[in-house]
Amino acid sequence: MARVVQKYGGTSVGTPDRIRAVARRLIARKALGDDVVAVVSAMGHVTDELVELASAVCTDPPDREMDMLLSTGEQVSIALLAMAIHAEGEDAVSFTGPQVGIVTDPVHGKAKIQEVRGDRILEALGQGRIVIVAGFQGVTPDGQITTLGRGGSDTTAVAVAAGIDAAVCEIYTDVDGVYTADPRLVPAARKLDAIGYEAMLEMAASGAGVLQLRSVEFARNHGVVIHCRSSFNDSPGTIVREADATMEQAIISGVTHDTSEAKLTIRDVPDRPGVAALVFTRMAEANVNVDMIIQNVSEDGRTDISFTAPKTDLVRARKAAQDVVTELEARTWSVDEGVAKISLVGAGMKTHPGVAAQMFSTLADAGVNIDMISTSSIRISCVIEAEKVGTAVRALHTSFGLDDDAVTAEVSPGAGEGAGK
Ligand code: ASP
Ligand code: MG
Repeated sequence: MARVVQKYGGTSVGTPDRIRAVARRLIARKALGDDVVAVVSAMGHVTDELVELASAVCTDPPDREMDMLLSTGEQVSIALLAMAIHAEGEDAVSFTGPQVGIVTDPVHGKAKIQEVRGDRILEALGQGRIVIVAGFQGVTPDGQITTLGRGGSDTTAVAVAAGIDAAVCEIYTDVDGVYTADPRLVPAARKLDAIGYEAMLEMAASGAGVLQLRSVEFARNHGVVIHCRSSFNDSPGTIVREADATMEQAIISGVTHDTSEAKLTIRDVPDRPGVAALVFTRMAEANVNVDMIIQNVSEDGRTDISFTAPKTDLVRARKAAQDVVTELEARTWSVDEGVAKISLVGAGMKTHPGVAAQMFSTLADAGVNIDMISTSSIRISCVIEAEKVGTAVRALHTSFGLDDDAVTAEVSPGAGEGAGK
C-alpha cells in the first residue's frame, strides 16, 4: 500500500464528464489499496475568466481581493469532484488550502508555501476516504487567503506530497509528459522518460509550461519524486527525480521557448558606478521580475541598458523606467513586446564544449538574429524576434539530434495547460 498524491489540471477537470472520469480514476487507484489524495485546479479557463472579471470592475485590483476571488475557482472543482466520487458510491472529502493548513507567506498573488500540516489529510485518509485538496491556495499565519501564482496547483500537489510523505506525486495533465520541445511547435518532439531536477528546473524556468517552476524547486528541496503524465490515457509519463547513473545522460534535454516577456531598454544612461544598481533597485521596488540583462558598449561615457521582464509586470515596469530616466537624466526608455526567448537545456553541456557555437551557427543558418544571450551552467538562452520562434526552435531541435524520426502524425495545434508557452 502506498500513499499517492495525484494532481489534475484545469483541462483535466474542465467539464462534468472529465470530472467524472477523474473520479473513476481516483476510485480505481484506491481499489488497488493505495491511500489517494487529489489536488485539483480550477475548471478549464475559470481562473482566466476571474482575472477578466476583476479587470472589468477595477484596473488595479488590490492583491488581497484578487486572491479572495481567484481562490474560488478551485473551491468549485474540489466540491464537484467530491460529489462525483460520492455518485460512484465511494467516500470522499474536499478541503480548501486553509482547511488543511497550507500555510504561506503573506505575498498575495505569488505566495510561497511555508508549511503543510498533514494531520487533517492523514486523518481523513485513515477513515478510508479519498481526500481532495484545492490547489493554488493557502492561508497566512494570520488568516489571509493567498494564491501561489498561475499554475500553482502543481506546487500544492508537491507540497502536500512532502507534507504527508507520499511515495510519489503524480501530475496529470493534457500532455503525455515532459517533451524535448513544445509539440505544438515541433511535431518531431519526443517525450522524455526521465529527467533530473536540475534540467527540469531550467526547462520550467525557460518556458516549458508542463510543470510550474516552483513545484520542481519544492520537489528538489524535499526529494519528492514527480511523475508527470496524461490524464487521458494510462501510458507512463516522465519521472522527475535526482539524476543518477541509471538515468539517460543526454547532452541536451530540450529546447524551450517563452513569449511571455518583453524587452525594455533605457537609453543613454551615464556609464558610472551605481547606475545599474539604481535601475534594478527601482525595478525591484516596483516588483518587476527582471530576467536577462545586457549593457551595451559605452560611448562618450553613456550607455544603453536592456533587460527582459514578464509582460504581466509591464505596467509597473514602464512607470519605474520613467522614474529611472528622470532620476538619471537618461535620454528615454522603450519597450519591445515582439520578442521571444529560446533556450537550449541539458546537464551534459557542462562537460561538452562547442554547444554554444553550434547553437549560434544553427540560428545563423536559419536566418535568425540574436538580440540578447544569457547562460547558466546547463542552459543557453537567446532573445530573438517573436516571429522567428518556430523556425528557431525547430532548427535547434533538429541540429541537436532531438527529432523523433518515428513521428509521422501531425500534432494538432491547440492550447492546453500542459504544453510549453
Ligand atoms: N487555477 C490556477 C491557474 O490557472 C492554478 C493552476 O491551474 O494550477 O493558474
Ligand atoms: Mg493550470
